[in-house]
Amino acid sequence: MADLLSLNIKELNSAIEQMGEKKFRAKQLYDWLHNKLVWDYGEMNNLPKELRRKLSKEYPLPYIEEVQRLQSKLDGTNKFLFKLKDDNIIESVIMQYKHGNSVCISSQAGCRMGCYFCASALGGLVRNLEPSEMLLQVYNIQRITGKRVSHVVVMGTGEPFDNFDNLLKFMEILNSEQGLNISGRNVTVSTCGLVEGIRKFADRKLSATLAISLHAPTDDMRRRLMPVANRYSIEDILEACRYFIEKTGRRVTFEYSMVQGYNDSEEHAKMLSDLLKGMLCHVNLIPVNPIKERDYKQSEPERIERFRSILEKNHVNVTVRRTLGADINSSCGQLRRSYADR
Ligand code: SAH
Repeated sequence: MADLLSLNIKELNSAIEQMGEKKFRAKQLYDWLHNKLVWDYGEMNNLPKELRRKLSKEYPLPYIEEVQRLQSKLDGTNKFLFKLKDDNIIESVIMQYKHGNSVCISSQAGCRMGCYFCASALGGLVRNLEPSEMLLQVYNIQRITGKRVSHVVVMGTGEPFDNFDNLLKFMEILNSEQGLNISGRNVTVSTCGLVEGIRKFADRKLSATLAISLHAPTDDMRRRLMPVANRYSIEDILEACRYFIEKTGRRVTFEYSMVQGYNDSEEHAKMLSDLLKGMLCHVNLIPVNPIKERDYKQSEPERIERFRSILEKNHVNVTVRRTLGADINSSCGQLRRSYADR
């Protein structure tokens, strides 16, 4: 059965026309679904009763249900566990910044990329999320918290380019004027480096920000953290990033999780600088978040600072990611994981 919440306005038009209804009904329906954030046909009081009855019968809407919410006492971070229609559990986070409220969403239930340090990789991939299920994370969080969502980062569980078409549909609806109208500029998509995905994404010329999970300055080191590095070399990824920059004019973000004694030396910083020198990019240093299933530690703050200053000296833009929600275990699939353990 068609999932009306995953349709863009054009597709909704034809679905409604096929039901023998006038086109403007599609516009009204889209407004309820993506702007008013009402998903109970019964409440859509500008639609004829007969149509509402037909919709309820023929087009049950997908939903996600809050099963847990953690609120940080340190900052505005809130973490949510949502249950999908088929009982799968996903997690999403809202973070408050000066520039607005940013929601981090999951793009898949589980993930098949197998990164060593990542909690979401431990159970493997369960399934892709539908566009509607990505939208509902943003929509529900805005509704529950009453905070207007201005930014979205696709950095939760899952590899977005492993679910490419649904990701793009999600972004299209999120951007739509009749929807929440969150501009592409305010959307960041993070990938472990699927090269074809990066190129396809570049070809769409969206104004979104691309973030690459790099985490190491050599292929050898990267392979030990990320199995995907067996498929794509750093040079292939950088080539695809240059293509993205050429197509979109947008700078690329490189995420670099710092693991104590592994990828955090001065030499590594110099190697990373050499890789990225002259590129329109930005490096985000992230103190790695230990997970109980693995045995590695976060780099010491002094070491991170030293690493940062070397990049800076070499004219590579760099920031250290601030830790948010430290009191609510708010990183990278850990909450979903602990729910599964229970
Ligand atoms: N699959 C995508 C997006 C999801 S992961 C990707 O790989 O980019 C989002 C980011 O969190 C990635 O940079 C990932 O490498 C990082 N990450 C995952 N687990 C982490 C951990 N325990 N500590 C620090 N960063 C982590």
